[in-house]
Amino acid sequence: AAVLSARGLTKAYHATRALSDLSLDIRAGESVAVMGPSGGGKTTLLHCLAGIITPDTGQVLLRHDDGGTTDVARLSDRDRSALRRSTFGFVFQQGLLIPELTALENVAVALMLLGVDRSSAEHSAAGWLAALGLAGLEDRRVGQLSGGQAQRVAIARAQVSGASVIFADEPTGALDSGTSADVMDLLLRSTTGTGKTLVVVTHDDGIARRCARTVRLRDGRIVSDSLQAESAA
Ligand code: ADP
Ligand code: ADP
Repeated sequence: AAVLSARGLTKAYHATRALSDLSLDIRAGESVAVMGPSGGGKTTLLHCLAGIITPDTGQVLLRHDDGGTTDVARLSDRDRSALRRSTFGFVFQQGLLIPELTALENVAVALMLLGVDRSSAEHSAAGWLAALGLAGLEDRRVGQLSGGQAQRVAIARAQVSGASVIFADEPTGALDSGTSADVMDLLLRSTTGTGKTLVVVTHDDGIARRCARTVRLRDGRIVSDSLQAESAA
């Protein structure tokens, strides 16, 4: 069954149609690579699915564990914000981490925003950082980490709250190819097989091949949607 269903999404910026009557079902536990040319609507789709922007028309149905559904596009700002903090996790190319805070603080704050006390939050954060190979770097400021290390902190931050859907927008776009492969490996390992759903916007065929499914957008429409014969993840 679909955990997220986009139904008839349309989004325009002035005269530019970013999404054009787009529908897509994403199944729970699936890893989906969203590809296609620049300007095709990939980021707009991701932002609509994640409740970061509201489509002009259409629905984004999120199915809950109890079978109920919520239209992400029609929630109040407050409920949408709560959803982004608890159910969704984000790994973007940059901008989600606070460079002046330590790795541990950056991850712990995601839990503290949910009302978890600092010591429990830091305990969980340390566990995630260790799982991502960052043990020993907890107290390093994120601004002083390498790009690959910082993206691993971002992965930890995205997951520490127990998010069930992880949205990644060119998560390795700023990294060299070796580091990029390592970061993607950790992202896929920490999501696939755990029941979590991963939606990743990428230009990298290597990344797409490791996802179970590739959706290609052009001019705000889906032009192909294929399952990998065998996902390497
Ligand atoms: P992609 O991620 O595939 O590169 P985007 O979703 O970023 O595509 O953009 C789709 C189209 O919408 C492009 O033509 C882009 O210029 C336009 N667009 C995206 N965001 C904005 C914005 N905030 N204001 C104006 N135009 C935008
Ligand atoms: P609020 O509306 O309370 O300010 P936030 O904007 O902090 O809520 O959203 C909560 C979470 O959603 C953030 O911690 C972040 O991970 C994610 N998020 C929200 N907006 C964006 C955005 N524009 N880009 C990336 N992530 C976002």
